[in-house]
Amino acid sequence: MQETLTAQENTVARCGDCNALLSLPPLKKGELAQCPRCHGVLRNKDRWSLKRCSIIAFSILLLIPFALNYPLLSVELLGTKIDASVWGGVWKMATEGYPYTAFLVFICAIFMPISFAVLVILLQFARLLNKKPRNLLLALGYIKPWVMFDVYLVALGVSAFKVRDYAAISIDIYAIAFILTAILTTLLFIKINPNELWNDFYPQHTHPSNISATHSPHFCPNCRYTFMQPMRDLKLRTRCPRCHSLLNKTPAMTLQQTWAALIAGIIMLFPANIFPISYTYMNNIGNGDTLFSGVITFIGMGSYFVAFIVFVASIFVPISKIIIMLYLLCCIHFNWRHSIKWQMRLLHIVHFVGRWSMLDLFVLALMMSLVTRGQIINFSVGPAAFYFGAAVFLTMIATSFFDSRLLWNIYDRQQAK
Ligand SMILES: [Zn+2]
Ligand SMILES: [Zn+2]
Repeated sequence: MQETLTAQENTVARCGDCNALLSLPPLKKGELAQCPRCHGVLRNKDRWSLKRCSIIAFSILLLIPFALNYPLLSVELLGTKIDASVWGGVWKMATEGYPYTAFLVFICAIFMPISFAVLVILLQFARLLNKKPRNLLLALGYIKPWVMFDVYLVALGVSAFKVRDYAAISIDIYAIAFILTAILTTLLFIKINPNELWNDFYPQHTHPSNISATHSPHFCPNCRYTFMQPMRDLKLRTRCPRCHSLLNKTPAMTLQQTWAALIAGIIMLFPANIFPISYTYMNNIGNGDTLFSGVITFIGMGSYFVAFIVFVASIFVPISKIIIMLYLLCCIHFNWRHSIKWQMRLLHIVHFVGRWSMLDLFVLALMMSLVTRGQIINFSVGPAAFYFGAAVFLTMIATSFFDSRLLWNIYDRQQAK
């Protein structure tokens, strides 16, 4: 029955944001289907073909060795030229006593962008070979939020400003490779849509006539598939028939996971703000800077714009993110009936800004390779850096666990009264 559907017919889709059940007409190229209730995007045909994306991914892979390995910035310190590269910064952090902090930077600035490009190319191969790339598609969905090359690009600018006062700074020719890679990665990030790729490889086949009055369709949040019959595995657990991920998560479990990640993030934020995040040594006298005093230093130097960027990225965003998440979780727990439009807007903001908090850590990695040990001026990462990175990671995980449909459940109950 399901296989006889043609592309011209409507399909049934649940909105992943608000759980509304909708009938979707087939879309033409360039069209976008929005949920009439929460305005979440259901389908998006405004995107590049996988072929074009894979060409971009291939160019990224060609450029990335130059972007990561070759110097981006160099400074003249006491007649010696010191270079800073992405890889050099991570390596220096790892070998000088901060392996965990280095690992966080490595994941976001090196590992994830490369894996992202490789996955896109592998998906194109799967298309050419007519394979069903279930695991590749799942991996793409997991990796995408952690690709942070654009954040690194801004970090490069901030570090240039920071070092400017100690030494003459010059931007190397290889920085062009880095900037190009950053632009291409950002383009690929915007133009590739894992949900649409799922629909390309595994078209959605739930027809409005298949829906019975007694059973409402299931929805898989991983691949955004709306279906009638879940699959059962050997242990009789319910799984999504398209991506095979487990569907046994109850709202209570989702809430618990969100709380656990969020509380861990809040705990990490205390040492992140109390301990020094960086040390600057001048003539062997160490001077520790906390996140906050770092901003004050910039203001003292008259670099108001950089002070503003650093303040927003490393103090304002992490703290307001946690306050918003606490507020949304309380809304669910205590059935607060506030404007759903406002709550959804807050959630979108939290999703969007999350990555930018890594900025400070990238700046530290670059600074570390620029201002080397053993000189008159010396720069080192402080113990707060790891806690800060962990706080950013944990709050990002908390927002990814958060299920906005729980907010809409409250709204639905309120409307039903
Ligand atoms: Zn919706
Ligand atoms: Zn699925």
